[in-house]
Amino acid sequence: MISDNLALVRHQIGEAAEKAGRNPDSIRLVVVSKQNPPEKVLEAYQAGARCFGENKIQEAVPKIDEVHLPDISWHFIGHLQKNKIKYLDSRFELIHSVDSLSLAEKISAHCESQERVQAVLLQVNVSGEDAKFGMTPTELKNHLKGFGHLNGIQVRGLMTIPPQSDDPDDSRPFFSGLRELRDECQALKIQGIQLNELSMGMTNDFKTAVEEGATLVRVGTAIMGKRNPE
Ligand SMILES: *Cc1c(COP(=O)(O)O)cnc(C)c1O
Repeated sequence: MISDNLALVRHQIGEAAEKAGRNPDSIRLVVVSKQNPPEKVLEAYQAGARCFGENKIQEAVPKIDEVHLPDISWHFIGHLQKNKIKYLDSRFELIHSVDSLSLAEKISAHCESQERVQAVLLQVNVSGEDAKFGMTPTELKNHLKGFGHLNGIQVRGLMTIPPQSDDPDDSRPFFSGLRELRDECQALKIQGIQLNELSMGMTNDFKTAVEEGATLVRVGTAIMGKRNPE
């Protein structure tokens, strides 16, 4: 049952927050609904979920329109191809996955043409190796001013996906690394950049992420169950 799963995940977020001396209200749960039908989104909604994450524009847009509830916040968490930017609109409150300055420039220009400002997170590959997407910490620092100059986006924080592992403790250095990188970047006081949000932690490691400072956890399987293979 989605409602039981949701209650359990919330409870675990609360416990991890308490362990770390954090206010559980400072952590937002993004229920990852990718590869799940609108009916399951509605089931989660009825159980109290209000924030959902999708990773493909072409899957998300019709789903958002079918679900059609005004008090849901949709987040885009997947790799965004430049040829899909034209489909972006105010449907998405937050894009977690901006992984280059050139992508940010294109999103910004698109949003300026729609006369709006899109909130985004910058995706970082903390380990600096073996990941498909994300800037290295050096690239991030080099480009921060550039991100700050773009008028069609507002940077709100950082996101990371650690290397796949069954042991959540393997993710810990990447989560603490993202937090430390954020602190370093914040100290640079770059105009136009806010770095309050840390999006990190999925089904296997969200408790560890909360202990290390996550403000957004992206949890799919633990709430929605196993995804339908495409
Ligand atoms: C699929 C996905 C998740 C959720 O993964 P689970 O292991 O099912 O919780 C989180 N973040 C991103 C970027 C994803 O693509």
